[in-house]
Amino acid sequence: MAVSKTIAVLAGDGVGPEIMPVAVEVLKAVGKHGGHALTFLPAPVGGQAIDDMGWPLPDETLRIARTSDAVLLGAVGGPQWENLAYERRPERALLGLREQLGLFANLRPARLYAELADASTLKREVIEGIDVLVVRELTGGIYFGKPRGVEATPTGHRGVNTEVYTTEEITRIATVAFEAARKRQGRVTSVDKANVLESSELWRRVVTEVHHTYRDVELRHMYVDNCAMQLIRNPRQFDVILTTNLFGDILSDAAAMLTGSIGMLPSASVGATTGMYEPIHGSAPDIAGQDCANPIGMIASGAMLLRYAFGLENEAALVEGAIQHVLATGSRTRDIADSGATVIGTREMGARILERIDGLQVNA
Ligand code: NAD
Repeated sequence: MAVSKTIAVLAGDGVGPEIMPVAVEVLKAVGKHGGHALTFLPAPVGGQAIDDMGWPLPDETLRIARTSDAVLLGAVGGPQWENLAYERRPERALLGLREQLGLFANLRPARLYAELADASTLKREVIEGIDVLVVRELTGGIYFGKPRGVEATPTGHRGVNTEVYTTEEITRIATVAFEAARKRQGRVTSVDKANVLESSELWRRVVTEVHHTYRDVELRHMYVDNCAMQLIRNPRQFDVILTTNLFGDILSDAAAMLTGSIGMLPSASVGATTGMYEPIHGSAPDIAGQDCANPIGMIASGAMLLRYAFGLENEAALVEGAIQHVLATGSRTRDIADSGATVIGTREMGARILERIDGLQVNA
């Protein structure tokens, strides 16, 4: 069924304005093919917004983000804004958007494209075929729990952080993981430290309860130390990894590295209403303005947006298939090129993916 949706387009800084137009073109092409009415609403964010309007997350940008059906974000930050006061730094826009949009779940897929197996630091036979989705709780746990702080004691100082989770927080993130698993291979590994932490004991109990309404999905529990080991030993065993804010922060970076390049990977942050879709990398100021950034993480974020925000599974698969095809035909940006390979730029990589999508649509 054709949909009518608005997408806030926050390109941001560094390579953001180079990779964003490529992703928007891809979404436009897919939307046109499916008869979907997609409206794109660009707005300034991060350093660009500081320069233009004095603040990293202007009210108008927040309004557009809030009232859109999804937010597509490039990246924010750069050395020219690093000396600003904490509240005025570009990265504050990310926290502001997460908080204001209530984005409590971070979804990070780590999928290995077979053609890039040699870009990983692990052996080809270990990583070939991996397709893991880390579902990380984003607004609770030890990053937000109270009490927190550093206090003086008679013998020195004492630093405190508190891991806190409520039934409600665990239920909603577990629901996201089980729903995602239904769209994938139907397997959830819930990761905790229930042998040591009471908050993990509750986590395990609540996840098990939520599972009662998802009997079609397979659930297993794993301790985080074992999970870290298993990700390196045999990552193919995982489909969806469901975990807390702290454990997810660490495990999602480990999972991302299995696939080789940071420029390839998308992410989604979702909550009650509008979700935000962005590549996992930052603004890459070292390569900005050179037409050499890999746009695939950004384009794949667009595919996640189609899947999770609009329920357009076929369109998402079309975009992912086009990425795979272009890689299979040997197209490489600098970050994923073997020595001796012909290197193409951001725009050319985008054009080739777009060409494949147009070709498939004509043949469909
Ligand atoms: P980074 O992810 O921007 O870059 C790390 C390395 O990866 C660099 O060598 C860069 O050239 C390379 N890289 C990143 N994206 C690439 C791509 N698409 N194609 C090819 N190579 C790519 O991380 P950093 O250098 O630590 O941070 C730079 C700025 O980005 C900082 O201001 C940081 O605060 C900000 N940042 C923003 C976000 C975000 O907006 N979500 C996330 C992380 C960092």
